[in-house]
Amino acid sequence: MLFRSLILKSAALPPIKKFVKGSRLFRPIVKRFIAGETLAEAMKTAEGLADQGFLVSLDLLGENVATAEEAEQSTQNYLDVINQIGASPHKAAINISIKLTALGLDQGLDLAETNYRKLLEAAKPHNIFIRADMEGSPYTQVTIDLVRKVRADYPNTGTVLQSYLYRTDSDLDILMADKCRLRIVKGAYLEPESIAHPEKTTVDKQYVEHAKKLLTRGYYPAIASHDEHIINQLKEFAEQRGISRNGYEWQMLFGIRRDLQAKLHDEGYNVRVYLPFGDAWYPYFTRRLAERPANLLFITRSLIQK
Ligand SMILES: Cc1cc2nc3c(=O)[nH]c(=O)nc-3n(C[C@H](O)[C@H](O)[C@H](O)COP(=O)(O)OP(=O)(O)OC[C@H]3O[C@@H](n4cnc5c(N)ncnc54)[C@H](O)[C@@H]3O)c2cc1C
Repeated sequence: MLFRSLILKSAALPPIKKFVKGSRLFRPIVKRFIAGETLAEAMKTAEGLADQGFLVSLDLLGENVATAEEAEQSTQNYLDVINQIGASPHKAAINISIKLTALGLDQGLDLAETNYRKLLEAAKPHNIFIRADMEGSPYTQVTIDLVRKVRADYPNTGTVLQSYLYRTDSDLDILMADKCRLRIVKGAYLEPESIAHPEKTTVDKQYVEHAKKLLTRGYYPAIASHDEHIINQLKEFAEQRGISRNGYEWQMLFGIRRDLQAKLHDEGYNVRVYLPFGDAWYPYFTRRLAERPANLLFITRSLIQK
């Protein structure tokens, strides 16, 4: 947790950001996590994965836009994504993940809601599901409220809950009662101890509890983790309770534990690959570095070898 906090704090410093974004050194590892900068590249990868039998969630990178105009632009970009998916022979296998701060949440709730509804309206005839990713804790309540509100008109949307937050157990109950489709994750942001479990072991324990609850009573839940030990526990739990393999899906990030993604798929599970693309990769990339010290060691090694 200390390492994670150090990386996330340093990555936010402008000189570090400038260096990482400008340096060619980081390109190979950026490429490992991100499916290109354009929609065409991302669709090619998404369709390739769908050909192999994987499900996909496309994520157009970008968060915390600075102006209402930028929010309009990212909404327009997402409409292009929806149209491309709608025209794809693989459309049934591809959905999208969005961040409400890319749609203008920092500029105003009404703006974000209007843009979110535009996407849901465009997605509806194609039956494309849209998931609102969960961002840092200042956005937890507002994300839940907005998703619940728009679901009254557009049931093809859902969100994400983070097991590191103390509040999640009660949020799970509320959203499960709504039959809202949920993804459960451990949580990727830097949060204070006053609202989030600081110990990884406790987060892992909470994660298992939340995932079990969702598997038992959730509505087509998504269990999003690369933690093989936890995945094995949950597989056993689901098997013992006779929960159908088609009743839920595993989700993993593009470029992470591809071996495990393939294994689960070969075993007959639904596996969705979260596929980020676009040029605003920096915040996503730093969260991935912070999750695993080895990613940073890989970069340090290539620095020394040059
Ligand atoms: C599909 C998906 C969607 C997500 N959406 C959100 C969201 O909306 N909001 C949010 O806060 N978080 C989100 N996350 C991130 C999540 O909160 C965790 O930070 C992330 O998944 C790492 O936790 P883990 O469960 O894989 O377990 P960990 O205990 O962190 O890792 C278990 C193992 O997975 C592998 N691994 C994990 N991360 C990496 C990495 N970066 N590089 C290489 N190997 C790695 C390693 O082998 C590690 O030992 C999402 C994750 C996934 C998979």
